[in-house]
Amino acid sequence: MDALEQLIEILPDWFGANRRDLPWRRNREPYHVWLSEIMLQQTRVEAVKGYYARFLAALPDVPALASADPELLHKLWEGLGYYARVRNLQKAAQVIMNEHGGVFPRDYHAVRDLPGIGDYTAGAICSICFDQPTPALDGNVLRVLTRLSADSRCTDEPAVKRELRDRLAARYPAKGAGTLTQALMELGATVCLPNGEPKCGTCPAASFCAAHAAGSWQAYPVRAKKKARRPERLTVFVLSCGGALALRKRKNSGLLAGLWEFPNVPGRLEPQEALDQAAAWGLRPRGLEKQLERTHIFTHVQWEMRCYYVNCAERAAGFTWANEAALDEQYALPTAFRMFRP
Ligand code: SF4
Repeated sequence: MDALEQLIEILPDWFGANRRDLPWRRNREPYHVWLSEIMLQQTRVEAVKGYYARFLAALPDVPALASADPELLHKLWEGLGYYARVRNLQKAAQVIMNEHGGVFPRDYHAVRDLPGIGDYTAGAICSICFDQPTPALDGNVLRVLTRLSADSRCTDEPAVKRELRDRLAARYPAKGAGTLTQALMELGATVCLPNGEPKCGTCPAASFCAAHAAGSWQAYPVRAKKKARRPERLTVFVLSCGGALALRKRKNSGLLAGLWEFPNVPGRLEPQEALDQAAAWGLRPRGLEKQLERTHIFTHVQWEMRCYYVNCAERAAGFTWANEAALDEQYALPTAFRMFRP
């Protein structure tokens, strides 16, 4: 029996005793599992809980998601980032309504074909909801697998990932696929930790884990070198007039597509240049109230932002003017701009 087979044998019992009680684990409804898996990409469990509850309260099922107002979708996703995820959720819901009679497909390839669903999410949904032997290799699972066998191949290589997935799939049990998928993820998330030292002392794999035996956990998983982020300078304006702030809608493609923003221009303006810009927008600026410098990081770009707070005498027509309540309830302002809200 190899190390992976040993782990698969003992993991369901370990999971039964150690699983966290998470809202999306309370049933195996595909809509719930799908939504949680999409939200959890790039986002911590604790941060997702509130979003998950609010999203389900507003859009409780696939038909509701398919027909939702895109502005509501963005608002429900506000602050989670990677907004293409929620737009793809809706596109997939529309495909389910139009091509699958409103019933979530059970076939792996049909699930994989839905917008926004890759190998990982399709594997997670099909195993967790339908008990199919379809592994879901996220960063947590890759970490466990490569440490278990001290595998020093680069896990960003598609061929390596495929081989690991196939090896795991070949060992999936006839029953309990969903439990195994969740148990592997849980072990990676709570014991074989992503940042810092893993808790090998409490790990059920400690007696047969190659990285633990060699004290070499830091060497795995091997990842490709990331490209440095491209810095972009931006001057942002929080323009206030009579208790409302000026907003603009971003264009429908590119970074933060279709979301709302505080008006901004490329480059880093000096105070007088900022007042001149506000005047050129027809706002009749009364003066600068304060100035902040902030950095916001995206996957490939880093925004280095200077923000000016400008009190204005005129609500120029080119902007949408939103009071505090509207900013809270109506307009989806991504974190890059929301952090400047007064
Ligand atoms: S023994 Fe340590 S390194 Fe090996 S799988 Fe468990 S937590 Fe990870």
